[in-house]
Amino acid sequence: MYKVTLTYVLKKRVDDNAIQKVWSLVAAYSQSGQLVGMQWVTIGDSPFEIRATGLAHERSALLRRFESKLAKGARADLAPLLRRRATVEWERFAEDSKTCTCRRPRGLVFTPDVLSEGSPFRCLDCRGRRPPYRIGKSRDYFHLRNLSRQWIGFYWTWMDSGATEELAWGQLAEPKSDFVRMARKEVKDLERQIGVPVYYDLLTHYLSRLEEAPESTICPGCGRRWNQDLITDRLICERCRLFSYVPVDGQPPSWWRPLPRHRIVRRPTTSGREIRPSASDRSASAPCSGRPSRPEGRRR
Ligand SMILES: [Zn+2]
Ligand SMILES: [Zn+2]
Repeated sequence: MYKVTLTYVLKKRVDDNAIQKVWSLVAAYSQSGQLVGMQWVTIGDSPFEIRATGLAHERSALLRRFESKLAKGARADLAPLLRRRATVEWERFAEDSKTCTCRRPRGLVFTPDVLSEGSPFRCLDCRGRRPPYRIGKSRDYFHLRNLSRQWIGFYWTWMDSGATEELAWGQLAEPKSDFVRMARKEVKDLERQIGVPVYYDLLTHYLSRLEEAPESTICPGCGRRWNQDLITDRLICERCRLFSYVPVDGQPPSWWRPLPRHRIVRRPTTSGREIRPSASDRSASAPCSGRPSRPEGRRR
């Protein structure tokens, strides 16, 4: 990941028209994922200079071949105002997160980036974040880009542990919540467009006193067993296109407040009768009692 600064030297002094045109280009780069996170437009060292600052996954992010139609148009609009071509400065993050450049990933996981608001897509093979412009066209992931911001909003609401903590947790972690339903529909649409499986990252992390957290073996989406990768602690349900990690077991301090566990879905049998939930399933769907449990920050 890089901090990138674009410097535009104008033929005339900076005015509102020039600022607007730079913003249009920055917004287009943001829409295509060429710039991620927050962006700023500032006045440079002289009154003829405008700078745009943002974050990018890789040094090749601003290449013309990754530009959307919108970015091409915005760049063409700005060009007549410039004395010369923009200069670009790159500063690499001290703690760099991996960027996926795999030729063709076996799968992608929709898992928004709460720290730098980088690409919300992680590669199943290399575990790096795959920039959107390496996935498809911007219209393919347009809604997921917006949902990623909302995911991050819910995440901090949950982590802030205020009165709306449980509401936010439910929206992110309950497979049938309004938010997860919307996101899973968009994930499915993206998969259809790009022909690569795309999964929704379902939060299942708990500090728990239950010896065997049911979420570690049973997919809360369909009640069937997760496909588990023991080496990486990763859980996948191909049927629901859900992805998760083995929940964390630990010893919660007395002040941890309880949050609802996942509802364990009853799986229908071929005879049409429902399978009775096991003892561990029943304890999972019951409200937490005794020592409370609550989710913990994600492990990556
Ligand atoms: Zn990769
Ligand atoms: Zn499932």
